[in-house]
Amino acid sequence: MRYRSTRNESEPVSPAEAIVMGIAPGGGLFVPAEPLIPFSPEQQERLREGSYQERAALVLEPFLSDFSREEIDDCLRQAYRRDRFDHPAIAPLRRVSPDLWFLELWHGPTAAFKDMALQLLPHLLSRAARKCGEDLEIVILTATSGDTGKAALEGFKDVPGTRIIVFYPAKGVSEIQKRQMITQEGDNVHVIAVQGNFDDAQSGVKAIFNDGTLKITLAGLGYTLSSANSINWGRLAPQIVYYHSAYQELRAQGALEEGEKLNFVVPTGNFGNILAGYYAYRQGLPLGRLICASNRNHVLTDFFKTGVYDRRRPFYRTSSPSMDILISSNLERLLFELSGRQPKKVQRWMEQLAREGRYRIDLKTAAAIRKLFWGGFADEEKTAAAIRDTYRDYGYLVDPHTAVGKAVLDQYREATGDCRKAVILSTASPFKFNGSVCRALFGADAVRGKSEFELLEFLSRETGLPIPEGLNQLDKKPVRHRLTAADGEMMKKMLLMLLSFRP
Ligand SMILES: *Cc1c(COP(=O)(O)O)cnc(C)c1O
Repeated sequence: MRYRSTRNESEPVSPAEAIVMGIAPGGGLFVPAEPLIPFSPEQQERLREGSYQERAALVLEPFLSDFSREEIDDCLRQAYRRDRFDHPAIAPLRRVSPDLWFLELWHGPTAAFKDMALQLLPHLLSRAARKCGEDLEIVILTATSGDTGKAALEGFKDVPGTRIIVFYPAKGVSEIQKRQMITQEGDNVHVIAVQGNFDDAQSGVKAIFNDGTLKITLAGLGYTLSSANSINWGRLAPQIVYYHSAYQELRAQGALEEGEKLNFVVPTGNFGNILAGYYAYRQGLPLGRLICASNRNHVLTDFFKTGVYDRRRPFYRTSSPSMDILISSNLERLLFELSGRQPKKVQRWMEQLAREGRYRIDLKTAAAIRKLFWGGFADEEKTAAAIRDTYRDYGYLVDPHTAVGKAVLDQYREATGDCRKAVILSTASPFKFNGSVCRALFGADAVRGKSEFELLEFLSRETGLPIPEGLNQLDKKPVRHRLTAADGEMMKKMLLMLLSFRP
């Protein structure tokens, strides 16, 4: 498989090159340049019978054609380890009614779904770099407003040939998030607080990436900079696996007939997770609909309805912060695929988005999208109600992101009458967003005055559920990272200082 750009006709690249480059020349995103081949009945049987790791190897093999099967297996073994994931199925399904399952994607080290990709990406990236003849050590730089930074730290921790430096805004992450980061273990990880908000941290990182002199200095020290953001194909590909895995698991349990279509509901922000479902479909997954669930920032819901993507609107902070996004970068890939793979069109829409904050797609592309996708959103009240109702009706506890998915599935079934069996992707442990969950279940008074750590205990006591390993005892772990940068200049200086020492 080779990869091409969504925006121009430049020469396709190998999987390893796509992963190392991250973004295509000219600003486009990498997409498969060749048709995907649906799984044969024999391959489906092997998928059904395999472990999660074996399923992953079968799904990823065609996408990583310049990796040997041994290399893929080796990466998977290191990523989806039993000491990193607290469930043997890695992504287990929980049945709550005869036609509804939750696919739990939060059994990794940080208790949210980014682990599914960020546990694997570092191993793919490290090998891909060597394949491309890169002998400099890779330094991953990230500015984080929350959970991605921690998931990246856990993913890159002690991966040979890599270092990772995460900058977080001193006033812009929760107490738990901060604790998770400053207690991070690993010999190749660094965490630095930045005075200011997320934008300050972000622009500091951008300045580092754009500093040509610094780049030369770093190369002299043996380093090259890279990022692990969600538009890298190496982050998308691992997410394709669990759609197939869930489907085959239900087939194995006898819950689905052969070829029976299944709906998937995906709490969506940057459109990465749901787009992986589309590529699974192209690999032969019997898919009914991909239901795109948004929160109060419902650009995508409006887009599916009207064919107009319009980011010119207020931005709201919600109880599902990982979906508080007005530009869903990965949508570009879907536009490319469903507009007849016409890079000129995609280029025009993306230019319009950058220039005017909006674009309108043509009717044919809109119709192709509507055949497979349906969008809905839940406001804050509906999200809280979905947390309550799901717990009351099924005895199942969901986090606010997953609750948005449940609320939107209810809407979808009501609006379309399509009551096909459905899987809701559960993207975070309820303990990760315990404040909102406790407020929804027990009322604001029960939460008032309690710290996030007290709320973990409280939620565990009230529901009888265990606190995930990665969140437990955080307040007792030793602090390992204490650096604070006052501004962008200091961020640069600290980076150089840290990289001058090799562990
Ligand atoms: C990142 C994230 C999402 C959104 O996923 P996208 O791939 O950005 O659409 C949803 N829920 C949680 C908990 C997340 O961390």
